[in-house]
Amino acid sequence: MQTSDPRIEVLPQNVVEKIAAGEVVERPASVLKEIVENSIDAGATSIEIVVEDSGFALVQVTDNGCGLSCENLERSVLRHATSKIRSADDLFAITTMGFRGEALASISAVSKTTISSSNAESGLGYSLACEGGIASPITPVSHVRGTTVSCRDLFYNVPARKKFMKTRKAERLALVKVLEQVVIPFPGIRFTATIDGKNVFEVPAADSLLARISQVAGVEFAKSLVKAQGSTKGMDAVLFFPLSGNDLARPRYQNLYVNLRKVDNDSVLYGVRQAFTQLMQRDARPSFFCFIDVDPAAIDVNVHPTKQKVKFENERDLFGFIYGTVARVLKPAPDSGFAPAAQRRPANGGGPGERASYQQQTEAARQEQAPSSTGEQGDTSYGQTILAFPRRDSQAEKLLEPAGEERIQLTDSTEASAWNLISCYQIHEMLILAPIKNGILLIDQHAAHERILYEQALEDLKDKRSTSQQLLFPIVLRLSATEKAVFESSGEYFMAFGFDIQDFGGSDVSISATPSFMINGDVEHSVRDMIGYLLDEKSVEHFPEPHKRYAAAFACGAAIKAGQKLSEEEMNALLNSLFSSKNPYTCPHGRPTVVRISLDELSRRFLR
Ligand code: ADP
Ligand code: MG
Repeated sequence: MQTSDPRIEVLPQNVVEKIAAGEVVERPASVLKEIVENSIDAGATSIEIVVEDSGFALVQVTDNGCGLSCENLERSVLRHATSKIRSADDLFAITTMGFRGEALASISAVSKTTISSSNAESGLGYSLACEGGIASPITPVSHVRGTTVSCRDLFYNVPARKKFMKTRKAERLALVKVLEQVVIPFPGIRFTATIDGKNVFEVPAADSLLARISQVAGVEFAKSLVKAQGSTKGMDAVLFFPLSGNDLARPRYQNLYVNLRKVDNDSVLYGVRQAFTQLMQRDARPSFFCFIDVDPAAIDVNVHPTKQKVKFENERDLFGFIYGTVARVLKPAPDSGFAPAAQRRPANGGGPGERASYQQQTEAARQEQAPSSTGEQGDTSYGQTILAFPRRDSQAEKLLEPAGEERIQLTDSTEASAWNLISCYQIHEMLILAPIKNGILLIDQHAAHERILYEQALEDLKDKRSTSQQLLFPIVLRLSATEKAVFESSGEYFMAFGFDIQDFGGSDVSISATPSFMINGDVEHSVRDMIGYLLDEKSVEHFPEPHKRYAAAFACGAAIKAGQKLSEEEMNALLNSLFSSKNPYTCPHGRPTVVRISLDELSRRFLR
């Protein structure tokens, strides 16, 4: 970061040639990211953002950083003009967000950009207007020390680009996402953002990373985080992640910052995931915030045009380092054997200031997991979930016609009621085992319920006849700005599924009714999961059609999870609903819901 404004110079050709080439300005969100990063590099402590029409009409950023001199202002929009590096060697010692001197040049080439700035306390400053890459003469203006960059009519001169842009909604979401990501490692900087007249983002300066995470992701979420810290040669890492099982299925955040820059790196991702899957839960996909501080010489940030990746000298070591750092916090005491599945509740309800040691937390978490000796079923939070399901025409007794296989009877009896007599066994609170005439069935409880709910949701969307139930006490959910943006663009769908969710002001929404089958479920986590699902870019790939995507989000969020104990009636009702659905054999994503193992196969295995 710079506090004075060093000269901007055009990089010599030999340096330019070493810079990863590529499009810097892909969409409004990338414009915003670049301009905000410049303000951070300028040492600003307050950054104000105004966006109109999802960034196509205006992206404006005002900072109180070091400002630009008149000469620097003039050079700022030149290609490969930067104050941050001078030579090719500097590429290996980068401590700023920017370094290529391309952002302002690219942005001002595809928009009408004005930069007004002052580097003096006097309030005297200069302004530069640039339209489609052509700069007008600089004029004096009054501006407090700092800089305002306004980018208007983005892509006005590149209509083809605009045509391929996603919807306004998607661009708006991308903007909020970028903001949420970029502000995290800078708790000392105040950020505000107004998008289309609405204040969507307001984070005052905070005194720690955890406090900043809490501002962005919500206090409740931040409370569920534990911290892991590690050091190895030339590298320090700090991680925050929840131990709570609820977040493990669909991570809300998997944010990695290397030297304060948000990047993706598979070694870190797998390092965290591997520690969780080995020590906590087989299929964990944990949320995390990881901050790595590394000698700039040990990484290459110049490998990706929009700086989304960095290359480490040794990725294997990085994986091991992150794995070890996380595992030290997750690892059970040596005598207690393998840690069971992750917890459903945060290990410790205390605030950041009063948290127990990580060992204590993990211990508490583990105890919570101890299997109950009573074997009661009363503690399933979805107690009524399945039983409350409307039974469709019960086809249960003539089920299962897998393609190309002979039909299997579930029971010898042809009476529908016999279905209820089937003995089912729940295995690892994840699978249901049902003996059938010629073998056994293994049913994935989550996938099966997903299938049922998916079909139901599609029907609800078609004939708008979902049944909903008023909650006695509305639930107030605090959402992050990104989550709120998703919610705002999905209101009609949530309503069609039977939710009544209202904007509660600020970052809160209130849920006053839910689909009736969910009445005893964990509504908050279901809704969060749905939003998380919609935020996951993979969901768009899976389901390009919005109605299917929303139905899948609903199914995924509302379906019983692995780790949920089921009574025998519930298992029976689940199977009953599954086999009366249109396509019982796969979940909405095409994964199998049922595995059938024939008696023949079993006999073969036992060499009989
Ligand atoms: P880079 O950030 O890679 O150097 P940019 O095109 O983003 O390239 O910016 C060019 C230069 O303009 C920067 O190197 C910096 O000196 C100056 N600059 C840009 N934005 C600001 C700002 N908000 N405050 C002060 N200087 C700025
Ligand atoms: Mg820059």
